Amino acid sequence: MLFMAFTILACGSGKSDGNVKESNKIKYANQINTEDLKEHLFLLSSDILEGRKTGEKRQKLAVNYLTAYYEHLGLTAPNDYPDYIQMIPQEFFNNRSNGPSPNILAYIEGSEFPNEVVIISAHYDHLGMKGDEVYNGADDNASGSSAVMELAQSFQMAKKQGNGPKRSILFIHFTGEEIGLFGSKYYIENPVFSLDSTIVDLNIDMVGRIDDNYKGKKDYVYLIGTNRLSEDLHELSENTNKKYTNLKLDYTYNIGDDPNNYYERSDHYNFAKNNIPIIFYFNGSHEDYHRITDTADKINFDILALRTRLVFYTAWELANRDERLVLNADKK
Ligand SMILES: [Zn+2]
Repeated sequence: MLFMAFTILACGSGKSDGNVKESNKIKYANQINTEDLKEHLFLLSSDILEGRKTGEKRQKLAVNYLTAYYEHLGLTAPNDYPDYIQMIPQEFFNNRSNGPSPNILAYIEGSEFPNEVVIISAHYDHLGMKGDEVYNGADDNASGSSAVMELAQSFQMAKKQGNGPKRSILFIHFTGEEIGLFGSKYYIENPVFSLDSTIVDLNIDMVGRIDDNYKGKKDYVYLIGTNRLSEDLHELSENTNKKYTNLKLDYTYNIGDDPNNYYERSDHYNFAKNNIPIIFYFNGSHEDYHRITDTADKINFDILALRTRLVFYTAWELANRDERLVLNADKK
């Protein structure tokens, strides 16, 4: 009996083929939870931050919250940006900002391919105030910002337990998105890892709501861009979802002639323009989009957690599989 137990333990606790045990992976994914997401989202979308407008004084509170968080987690700051702050000068924003404003960059170094990087991104800026009224931007994009924070925590937990990613993972909170995708544009011109070594950008923008098409229906997320530069990425994403999260992946907005043109409307587009494959995670539009009514009480935290876990598993595969993504252009 004892011998059996010992054998089972010995088999169960080891790694097979250098891969992390499934149960551990699931444990890290399930660390993503509604309580943490709630805490981050309610804070980032609170009135005190006055709508997180690029370059405004109270946007700085979001910056402080994010940088203190990454310091607390123990993530690495890039050499050139020791406080996780990539400051963008005011002039870069083409007169659309009243001051400088930073991207926030924090990463976990890869164990086998440290120079290759998977980027997970979300913009943290929003629209500011109109008169006395605050644009809270709970869905747009405190939801994505909170998701990125949770993802960083899961990957850091894995690393602390000896299961860190093989490729580096860079977590970016972009500024200047709402005024013209300036934060991602600046990052592309000043990348921490060369663009040639940037495998993918998983960009999360508005993932905390359920749109009219899906009220009372299956859990879903719209995916945009998955196959445009890499069918390999599309397949990896599909297979990962089938295996772990089983959300309905809806590609309605991925068609080339989408009148909404969502493919070009968030930060991933600056990566796609540079031939870096992307996935844009999105809940669809709703009546509170870019209105003062986009508030935290309307967020569905269960679906926010589910979608964040899908990003986790997808990023895990991208960071840990042996082969880099195959670009469509390189396919024979
Ligand atoms: Zn927006």
